[in-house]
Amino acid sequence: MRLAVLSDVHSNLEALEAVLAHADADRVVVLGDLVGYGADPDAVVRRLLECGAFLIAGNHDLAVTERFDVAWFNVVAAEAVEWTRANIEPDIYRSLAALEPKARHDGRLLVHGSVRDPAAEYLRDAYAAAASFEADPSFEIGLYGHTHLPAAYAGSGGSVRRLDCGEPIVLRGGERHLLNPGSVGQPRDGDPRASYLSLEDDVARWRRVPYDIAGAQGKIRAAGLPAILADRLDAGR
Ligand code: ZN
Repeated sequence: MRLAVLSDVHSNLEALEAVLAHADADRVVVLGDLVGYGADPDAVVRRLLECGAFLIAGNHDLAVTERFDVAWFNVVAAEAVEWTRANIEPDIYRSLAALEPKARHDGRLLVHGSVRDPAAEYLRDAYAAAASFEADPSFEIGLYGHTHLPAAYAGSGGSVRRLDCGEPIVLRGGERHLLNPGSVGQPRDGDPRASYLSLEDDVARWRRVPYDIAGAQGKIRAAGLPAILADRLDAGR
């Protein structure tokens, strides 16, 4: 069973198609923020539903469906939320409104932000990872997104360390893991290629996929979304 773990697709259809083609997975899981920022919310959600992906909500999906206060967003993100809400089809709205920011899938715990705060916390260091391991002692493998940065943490007996996710990581029993696939639609680690995580036979591999960035940028500009949302895709920031 080959699982492709995606997060933060952010209405970027070009990046999503490139990742799905590259992954050729038996099953796809998406850790939230399907929409927001990009110009293709309907097509992205439809594509994910069509491939039978297991979906949870991110803070942008919650904000679009009026379950998360847009006052927490910066001006650009808030503008993208308003644009998305005004432009999506009613059935896409309903699909997003049915998602929660936390779920179990195949024995793994899926959250958008963190285990202690599934909608909003940015899990950025070993302290936050330790808090998430403590918040729910029952999971061995936790998958999260939200930071747009590939990352991995291992925990055993109260100590937590950050792992180098540039190399494949073997997920052995006896240790707990928190893994972030990075972002499909708006990477922020300086590498503009779409990022995702492949899980097969307890080996986690982070993958990067080139995609039609100019195509995605052209649609963002044509939609009248803030120009920065197109510009930043080149830099992967
Ligand atoms: Zn996001």
